[in-house]
Amino acid sequence: MIDTHVHLDFEQFNEDRKNVIKRFFDNGGKAILNIGVDEDRSNKTLEIAENYLQIFAVLGFHPENGEVNLEEVEKYLKEKCQNSKVKAIGEIGLDYFHSSDEEDREFQKKLFIKQLEVAKNLNLPVVIHCRDAYADLWEIISQTQFKKLKMVIHCFCGGVEEAKNFLQLPNLKFSFTGNITFVKENDELLKVVKKIPLNRIMVETDCPFLAPVPNRGKRNEPSFVKFVIEKIAEIKVLSFDEVENQTDKNAIDFFDLEK
Ligand SMILES: [Zn+2]
Repeated sequence: MIDTHVHLDFEQFNEDRKNVIKRFFDNGGKAILNIGVDEDRSNKTLEIAENYLQIFAVLGFHPENGEVNLEEVEKYLKEKCQNSKVKAIGEIGLDYFHSSDEEDREFQKKLFIKQLEVAKNLNLPVVIHCRDAYADLWEIISQTQFKKLKMVIHCFCGGVEEAKNFLQLPNLKFSFTGNITFVKENDELLKVVKKIPLNRIMVETDCPFLAPVPNRGKRNEPSFVKFVIEKIAEIKVLSFDEVENQTDKNAIDFFDLEK
């Protein structure tokens, strides 16, 4: 299993980071992608990745950064992404849930587009964060200049119609977290998981957040990604191994992990 989206640099892991990582690799974990959200966190992400052979870095500026200097963002990413442990740019995108301010939303778009341009320039995939903004997300990433980029929408929680739309972009993947384990039985999200072909799906914990059932409410950690795999297997009526093997393969291809 590969946990494609974690924040092990967060202070929730300060006491036992080493053990948390060990637990994942002792229990069949193959690789981890640690995700940056700002400059400081991206630096910490890179530091962790450099200490472990099978932990890789994704660097970027989350939409909730507020005002940052776009030229500095570009300069920072272009420099840091030269490091071979960096496998993608992220998490970047749009978050309208936490922002009702029109001006802020406009800035989020600019910051997102700037980082998409850098990713295209450096030939790197992109990890997308999107909350309550799927229409604007579609408008941006379906543009001719971006639509062929390798992209993953992390913690996807759009509806069936939205999923159908995004499926039109052949290089786009969807990743699911513990949230699929705690929605109600008739929730549309489960139909979405069923509808999306397994070769378009990756799994993640987004730890320390969103711990899956049976650990809901606790601190999340990479070894819990098995509960997300289990849930997808249940929804798609497949074996655990089938889902694990295919999602591993998807992540290895997407992030180019075998180089
Ligand atoms: Zn995240």
